[in-house]
Amino acid sequence: MNFQQLVLASHNAGKLKELQAMLGQAVQLRSIGEFSQVEPEETGLSFVENAILKARNAARISGLPALADDSGLAVDFLGGAPGIYSARYADGKGDAANNAKLLEALKDVPQEQRGAQFVCVLALVRHADDPLPILCEGLWHGRIMFTASGEHGFGYDPLFWVPERNCSSADLAPADKNQLSHRARAMALLRQRLGLA
Ligand code: IMP
Repeated sequence: MNFQQLVLASHNAGKLKELQAMLGQAVQLRSIGEFSQVEPEETGLSFVENAILKARNAARISGLPALADDSGLAVDFLGGAPGIYSARYADGKGDAANNAKLLEALKDVPQEQRGAQFVCVLALVRHADDPLPILCEGLWHGRIMFTASGEHGFGYDPLFWVPERNCSSADLAPADKNQLSHRARAMALLRQRLGLA
């Protein structure tokens, strides 16, 4: 498959920059913000459904092939929660409140039952009604710590223990996280699917 441009279904300039760096220069990512400021309602029950929904919406609005990502944290003990609701786990009160709520939910849970994964699903559609979206899933396995650590990253990074580095993902330098993360893993698969790797 040969795409020169893809519209990224995100208004977040930081995310566009990060995904562009991972994708490489052969395909140019353009922001959906060039075409519309309206964000679709994420009504799916899974990362896959929401990623497809966002990609279709971006393709419909722009008339171009579109890429969307949906990501979050799935905690084993909580049956995969907060999952697709990761950003608004504490009712939209932000990262610190989300982390506090997660620590509280796991307060009596021993270390061996604190397994979790960051999840990223990338969905690429050639057009709005594409019956065969390209789907790439990246999982980053770790566990939820008992206290926060680290200054980098965002979201749940201060609580996510990275076994391969013996530190939290907020302790990792950004370049290091970008080699290991769920987004990096999903993007590596997408590069393969697009014949870029
Ligand atoms: P989004 O799909 O990038 O908007 O991410 C949804 C939510 O999942 C974020 O608001 C974070 O709470 C969480 N999340 C996703 N990726 C990461 C990450 O790399 N580190 C920490 N939290 C993340």
